[in-house]
Amino acid sequence: MIYIKSKREIELMAEAGRIVALAHEKVKEAIKPGVSTLELDKIAEDVILENGATPSFKGYNGFKGSICASINEVVIHGIPNKKHILKNGDIISIDIGACYKGYHGDSARTHAVGEVSEARQRLMDVTKQSLFEGLKYAKPNNHLSDISHAIEAYVLENKCDVVKEFTGHGVGRALHEDPAIPNYGPRGRGPILREGMTLAIEPMVTAGKARIRILADGWTTVTMDKSDSAHFEHTIVITSDGYKILTTTEGGSF
Ligand code: MG
Ligand code: MG
Repeated sequence: MIYIKSKREIELMAEAGRIVALAHEKVKEAIKPGVSTLELDKIAEDVILENGATPSFKGYNGFKGSICASINEVVIHGIPNKKHILKNGDIISIDIGACYKGYHGDSARTHAVGEVSEARQRLMDVTKQSLFEGLKYAKPNNHLSDISHAIEAYVLENKCDVVKEFTGHGVGRALHEDPAIPNYGPRGRGPILREGMTLAIEPMVTAGKARIRILADGWTTVTMDKSDSAHFEHTIVITSDGYKILTTTEGGSF
């Protein structure tokens, strides 16, 4: 069941989203060689708590971090760890969720650590753009899978691959609500988009084949071929004529 949010609920989600974006901005400032992913976790958690929210991921199905911090071939769900130290040339995907007055915001970004190769920069650019290609179809009366199809088409055109085992999702009172939003598939399928739906759209893209496996910790998701992966995500609300991004700050760059 897809919950349509009221104006008041969307306001609370926008505040949750603003806090998520603020946490992303602080984490970005701290990303450099020599920093551990546990340090980044602390920075994000502090921003979330200082703004009267709670980290959505901490304790979620037993997850230990406030953020997911996924380096290079780690696709998603990297657990913050003081032994995971960023190196020049790495890429790191940061996923942050915050819950404000009972409503969640959820957003991910991939960053370069120092100077990265052209191939890694290109993977990040393709992944980020694929999100916005999908969002072009986020408007009332379109089918949900019009978004999915646009993401996959753009990724494949650019010779990358999309992960199929994990999807975007509805978001609101729960971190994960209906519907699931695959990053692939034919257009014209799934529910019809309606004003007031709140959705987390999140392409997970790989430079090589998108086959994945989950490590023994039960979380860390890596590419089978050890190729690099990037992840961009926004929480949006469907408006009367399109969509609005909720996980952003005024003047924010993403
Ligand atoms: Mg997320
Ligand atoms: Mg999500």
